[in-house]
Amino acid sequence: MPITLYNSLTRRTDTFVPLDPQRVTMYLCGPTVYNYVHIGNARGPVVFDVLVRLLRRHYPHVVYARNITDVDDKINAAALAQGTPIGTITDRFTAAYREDMEALGIAPPDIEPHATAHIGEIIAMIETLIANGHAYAAEGHVLFDVGTYAAYGQLSGRDTDELIAGARVEVAPYKKNPTDFVLWKPSTPELPGWDSPWGRGRPGWHIECSAMSAAHLGTTIDIHAGGVDLTFPPHENEIAQSTCAHGGEVFARWWLHNGMLTFDGRKMSKSLGNVLLVHELLKRHPPEALRLLLLRGHYRQPLDWSDAALTQAVSTLDGWYRVLRDLADVRVEGELPVPVRVEAALCDDLNTPQALAELALLADAARQNGSADAKAALLGGGALLGLLQQEPEAWFKPGDDVVDAARVEALLEERRSARAARDFARADAIRNELADMGVAIEDGAQGTRWSISKG
Ligand SMILES: [Zn+2]
Repeated sequence: MPITLYNSLTRRTDTFVPLDPQRVTMYLCGPTVYNYVHIGNARGPVVFDVLVRLLRRHYPHVVYARNITDVDDKINAAALAQGTPIGTITDRFTAAYREDMEALGIAPPDIEPHATAHIGEIIAMIETLIANGHAYAAEGHVLFDVGTYAAYGQLSGRDTDELIAGARVEVAPYKKNPTDFVLWKPSTPELPGWDSPWGRGRPGWHIECSAMSAAHLGTTIDIHAGGVDLTFPPHENEIAQSTCAHGGEVFARWWLHNGMLTFDGRKMSKSLGNVLLVHELLKRHPPEALRLLLLRGHYRQPLDWSDAALTQAVSTLDGWYRVLRDLADVRVEGELPVPVRVEAALCDDLNTPQALAELALLADAARQNGSADAKAALLGGGALLGLLQQEPEAWFKPGDDVVDAARVEALLEERRSARAARDFARADAIRNELADMGVAIEDGAQGTRWSISKG
């Protein structure tokens, strides 16, 4: 069954044919590790985890890299603000990121390259770009000369005149052209830096992805993936850098971009106060429900996150696990089958909503006929999506470290009634009970908000 994928570069859906069927290569732009990631940042890793599962079924060897950006101005700012070395911050949030991803059922990548471990490759790539006339050094900086690469703007569909107009606002004096972008920049003594032919400094925008992708996967890779917000400038710059450093060889043959997450129809942003951290969500909700919700929409479309949608995801999984629990005595032997309709949906540009609809039908069938084959099909379809792989009992009795959100809501409702009836002793008792569960509450004009206070 062929896999078809939408390629953002060609703007077409084509049959995926790897360069070397013996070694399929895929790179996903990973996190900049200076804070916990929000749920929007988990969408790409979850949907592309499903893609990797599918590719592994079709090809004997898939090499999947997801990088860690551990040098960046946001990290530097956090380190300065907290008075710690950047390594303290990046180690902490790299570990947190791995934990969050694991909780969401995402298999670890085969390669997890760190930018700071590839400074040599980055410098070498910049030297090549200077040597072949695509970059120039000026005032401790090295800049990519956008004018030397005619296809610049092809991925994001921008033309260079438009870009120049946009960039004219503040043009650094060392730039030849307003659109030229920084490959290397100087570091002041308090900032992290490495010795280079252009003085002590650090890498500029996204050169690390070009350097690490080439170092681990080769000059031309099959798939480069990331959020649609990375299309411009990061991915556009990666294409320019890599293509020009490798004598015009294609950088990535397929470009896959996932849509953004909104919350109750609004953009998630710090200023709106609606940024949902994976780390926090995991304390209140079953991880598998978060994963299911991230797969509910087609990956290229925006996806709206809401409490109602999350409740719905939990109840869907309740239903499917109930079927599995009822069939606990039905033995499934051997390797799980992959139901053809689930696979067909995923082969159609990773149509996860359709695959989930097929999974629901498999659950109905298993409920109705109760056979080992029907149970195996449900489990096998789930496995391809990274769902339904825990014991039903574990789903229905989550560990003590998970706060039961429904129970918290019920207690808050009871506390509201007690306060309305002026039964303050009962209201205080409920507050204490919540505190014992590790839940802190805060009364405000919009009602009572709660948060996890432990761990
Ligand atoms: Zn990247």
